[in-house]
Amino acid sequence: MRREDFDILKEKVYGRELVYLDNAATTQKPREVIDAMVYAYTHFNSNIHRGVHHLSQIATLNHEEARQKVAKYINAKSADEIVFTKGTTDSLNMLAFSAGELLVKEGDEIIVSTVEHHSNIVPWQMMCERKGAKLRVIPMCEDGSPDMEAYVKLLNERTKLVSVAHVSNVLGTVNPVEEIVRRAHERGVLVAIDAAQSAAHKKVDVQELDCDFMAFSAHKMYGPTGLGVLYGKREWLEKLPPAEGGGEMIEHVSFEKTTYNTLPYKFEAGTPDFIGSYVFGKALDYIESAGREEVEKHERELTEYAEQRLREVEGVKIYAAGMRKAGVISFNIEGVHPYDVGVLLDRQGVAVRTGHHCAEPLITRLGVSGTVRVSFALYNEKEDIDKLIEALQRAKQILKG
Ligand code: PLP
Repeated sequence: MRREDFDILKEKVYGRELVYLDNAATTQKPREVIDAMVYAYTHFNSNIHRGVHHLSQIATLNHEEARQKVAKYINAKSADEIVFTKGTTDSLNMLAFSAGELLVKEGDEIIVSTVEHHSNIVPWQMMCERKGAKLRVIPMCEDGSPDMEAYVKLLNERTKLVSVAHVSNVLGTVNPVEEIVRRAHERGVLVAIDAAQSAAHKKVDVQELDCDFMAFSAHKMYGPTGLGVLYGKREWLEKLPPAEGGGEMIEHVSFEKTTYNTLPYKFEAGTPDFIGSYVFGKALDYIESAGREEVEKHERELTEYAEQRLREVEGVKIYAAGMRKAGVISFNIEGVHPYDVGVLLDRQGVAVRTGHHCAEPLITRLGVSGTVRVSFALYNEKEDIDKLIEALQRAKQILKG
C-alpha cells in the first residue's frame, strides 16, 4: 500500500534494498508529512496563543485544528480532552503524577498487566513509592492473553486505577480492553489505555472503549518525533491537578496565588510543539486517506502471512502464535541468540528489533533473554516477508557454519 510515498524505503543498506520491519519502534514518514514540516517552518513559524500578529494567529489556528483532528481520530467528545505531550511516555508520566496527587493514598493499589512497556510500569511504580501505594500485576496466560479471572480478583476497594496496553509491543496481541474497562468501572475504578501500538493500526474509539485516559505517540503513526497525546475524559481532566507549571497553563499568577488555565491548556506548560502538532495533523490525514479499515485489514493479512511463513523455518518459536495480533510478531530461533539473528538480518538489509523491547518483566515471564521482533506498517508488502524469510534461512546457514 502506498509504498511510493515513502522515499526512505528506496534507501540501500549494505548495498541491498531496505526491508523495514521495525515499525513498532517508529514508522517512516510519507513525503507529504515531511513536506508539511518544511511548509510550517517556511510559512507560519511563530509562537502560538500569545501573539496578536498574523503569523502567530495562523500558527495558533493550525495547532488548534490539529487538536480537532486528533479528537476526531479517536472520537473524543471534544478537542478540550486532547492534551499534547512529548509522547506516550510523557503522557503516562503526567497522568501517573496527577492521578497520584488526586486519587492515591497510602495502601491504595494500581493495576497494570504483565505485557506492559516500561513506560506503563515505571511511572506508576514511582508514584506508588511516593504515595506508599502498591502496584498489582494481572498475570499472563500461556497464550499471551491477560488472565481475566485473576484480574477481576485483583480489583478491590483499594484499587484506584488500571493502566493497560491496547496492543502488546512485544507479542502484538490485542488485549480485551473493552472488558478490562467494563470490569473496572463496575467497581468505580478508572482505566488508562496505552495505545502506542494500536493508534496507527486499529480503530481506537475512546467513547466506545469508554476508557478514562489514553496515551499515544505521533512518531509511531507516520508523524513527527517528540509529540504525543494524553486523552482524558473532561470530568477527570478538570479534577486532576496539573503535572507541570509554567507559561500557558495559568490563568493568573501572583506571588501569593496562581490560578490555572482551562482545558486542555492547564496541562500544556510552556511552548508546545506547534510545528509537530500541525505535521501530526497531516499524518492523521494521511492515515484517514489510506482508509483505517483497509490499513488494519492489510496489516492483519501481513501478520498472518508472516506467521505462516515463519513456521516454515526450522527451529522457529513464535510467541503467542495464532493469537489475534496487530502488526507485531516476536520469535526466536532455537539455540541462537536474538541479537545474532538481528545482526545477520541487518547485513542483508532487513531491519528488525531484538532484545527486551522495553518490556523486561514480559521477557522474564517468557523465560528468554530477548526476542526478534518484526512489525508492520501500511507500506509493507508480502514481498518484505519473503525477503525476511530468505534472509533468516541464510542467517541460519551462516550460524551453522
Ligand atoms: N507503550 C508502548 C506499548 C510502546 O510500544 C512504546 C514504545 O515503543 C511506548 C509506550 C513508549 O512510547 P514513546 O517512546 O514514544 O514515548
